[in-house]
Amino acid sequence: MRYEDQRALLVRELELQGIKDERVLRAFLNTPRELYVPEEHQSLAYHNRALPIAERQTISQPLMVAIMLQTLELTPEDTVLEIGTGSGYETAVLASIVKEVCSVERLENLSLQAQQILKKQGFRNVYFRIGDGALGWEKAFPAYNSFDKIIVSAGARQIPSRLTEQLAEGGRMVIPVGEQQQQKLVLLTKKDGVLSQSDCGLCAFVPLVTST
Ligand code: SAH
Repeated sequence: MRYEDQRALLVRELELQGIKDERVLRAFLNTPRELYVPEEHQSLAYHNRALPIAERQTISQPLMVAIMLQTLELTPEDTVLEIGTGSGYETAVLASIVKEVCSVERLENLSLQAQQILKKQGFRNVYFRIGDGALGWEKAFPAYNSFDKIIVSAGARQIPSRLTEQLAEGGRMVIPVGEQQQQKLVLLTKKDGVLSQSDCGLCAFVPLVTST
């Protein structure tokens, strides 16, 4: 079956699994996941599962990406901070919905590879950094020290305070929090400067590696 048809089937599956956000569904329909998957796994690109990428990391499961993006309630005006660029797939889905994406990855090799693919795909609204994303988007770009939405796609032992500090008023942040094997997906919202937290189910991500 052609990739396009496989992609349409995957989107149908996401709908059946409870994804209703039209922007998210459309973005999945327009993002070729096969480009972000290593060649040897390309035939599995549209299976609804995580797959290995370089450096012993993973490209997240499509349903999990969709749940996180739906939870963020993305709009075309949003500036989003993404921690864990990885393959760049989620970055591409995000970038086709929102105004700007700032994406941080600690492993240079993965970041450079993702940068290359996204550039080739014509994205001009994505900014990349290599470093510890638990620190957020550090001072070098003062315009970007407050984000409408923050998405962390690696499992954190604790919620990094630098990230919640960089969440804008009215903003939303999703982050997997817990131990190595399994985490809780946590939604944080900021209203009148006060953070509220709610749990959105279980998930399993590779660990957020940080010196903080
Ligand atoms: N959204 C990506 C997920 C990749 S897996 C995708 O679907 O492809 C998580 C990524 O987070 C890995 O690439 C890992 O290297 C990265 N990571 C782990 N700890 C990090 C940190 N402190 N700062 C930035 N990136 C981190």
